[in-house]
Amino acid sequence: MSNHIRVRIAPSPTGPLHIGTARTSLFNWLFAKKNNGIFVLRIEDTDLERSNSKFEEDIKNSLDWLGLEWDEFYKQSERLDIYKKYLQKLLDEKKAFWCFHSIEKLKKESDEQMKRKEAPRHICEHKYKEPTDKNNGIIRLKVDENSTRTIHFNDIIRGTVEWQEKLIGDLSLAKNLDAPLYNFAVVVDDHETKISHVIRGEDHISNTPKQILIQEALGIKIPQYAHLPLILGSDRTKLSKRHGAESVQEYMDMGYLPEVMINFMTLLGWHPPKDIKKKGGKPEDIFTVSELTEIFELKDVQKSPAVFDIKKLNWVNGYYIHQLPPEQFKAVIAPFILKEIGEKIEVKSEYLDKIRHLMTERMKKLSDIKNFDYFFKEPEYDRGLLNWKNISAVEIKKSLTLVKEALESIDWNFFDKNYIKKKLDDLAKDKFNGDRGAVYWPLRVSLTGKQGSPNPIDILSVLPKETVIERLNKAIGK
Ligand code: GLU
Repeated sequence: MSNHIRVRIAPSPTGPLHIGTARTSLFNWLFAKKNNGIFVLRIEDTDLERSNSKFEEDIKNSLDWLGLEWDEFYKQSERLDIYKKYLQKLLDEKKAFWCFHSIEKLKKESDEQMKRKEAPRHICEHKYKEPTDKNNGIIRLKVDENSTRTIHFNDIIRGTVEWQEKLIGDLSLAKNLDAPLYNFAVVVDDHETKISHVIRGEDHISNTPKQILIQEALGIKIPQYAHLPLILGSDRTKLSKRHGAESVQEYMDMGYLPEVMINFMTLLGWHPPKDIKKKGGKPEDIFTVSELTEIFELKDVQKSPAVFDIKKLNWVNGYYIHQLPPEQFKAVIAPFILKEIGEKIEVKSEYLDKIRHLMTERMKKLSDIKNFDYFFKEPEYDRGLLNWKNISAVEIKKSLTLVKEALESIDWNFFDKNYIKKKLDDLAKDKFNGDRGAVYWPLRVSLTGKQGSPNPIDILSVLPKETVIERLNKAIGK
């Protein structure tokens, strides 16, 4: 196994695992799998006020659910001694210094810079002095404000990225020896854990030149960078709450399948190579995890933003649900029956086999089982729903009564869809001037309590005869 490919994801436990971070995790994981590399999970919890262990749990659970298992785990709050050692080294070598400006003063300075449309930077006169009062200071890296150098790095996705050194200012590294800040902790960890490729969201691109300066000051190797395109909502603005669910947990709760999330998220910015041969006549864009780990390459990731299209996600999820083998379907649907239909529902396995396709043909997500509650319990609906066009209530009642009589005469052991269809069609022809809706609509509503459902004859074919008659009686009574 070639161990030189080592990648990481570094979520901060300040919220549940976001779709954007999940996509970053996935691309890192796929890259590691494809290259026999190591995938590291690092919890960046140095911001103690905003970090919460419940979010660390959520991040781990969500990655577990997606099947993105990590090979190594680190947590920044457990590594403070390591950062301290590196900070002390930079201070000893006079590459870093203590800055004593008050937070208020620094804030005022950066506000004014932003007003002048300048990149906020602090050029600190304390770098030329010996420290006096360390208790109130923060540690900064000395950066030459008069530098004429352009820092550049070769991003695997974006090509050459350039940054003027003089725009960076004296970079903050730590609040004190025991409290490293983001850029510093990242650099130390990436180095200590021998990360070869930093694959992360484009929102971090402006941190990269800063991290390179820190790497240079420490005299350590600079990893390869790949910045992934942003994810936008369908209105082309940055993905946010307004666009719907943001966390992996929410998608899990709604009944999206993990293999679908993998398939779908891979397509957020990545394209299969043109010459890819599809196996088994599957639709375009449908890939199993193992196919993806074979064909995924960073060079096929686009620079431009990716658009999160919920319609496409629903389509893919519906496709997968419909393709699930019976036993797998029963396993994944069981918790949703409990949750959406009710605690006390007991469903026989053979019954689920009978109704499975009637449902999966129309399901986008597993929680859509609630639209099929009538397969499990008596439907509830308002009598108005039984109305068909301008047909009177008396006529509707007549229709229901005639349908009931027709069905009562049938032996359910010899259920024949064509025979029943013929009987009901004849009824429409003889009694309702050929208006099939006058027969089928009230029947559909009595059986389901819904406006939309599978064909009523298909529903009749799976419900017990007593249930059908009981529901028709109920409707007649309304
Ligand atoms: N902790 C950072 C975040 O949650 C990630 C840092 C990185 O990937 O370098 O966005």
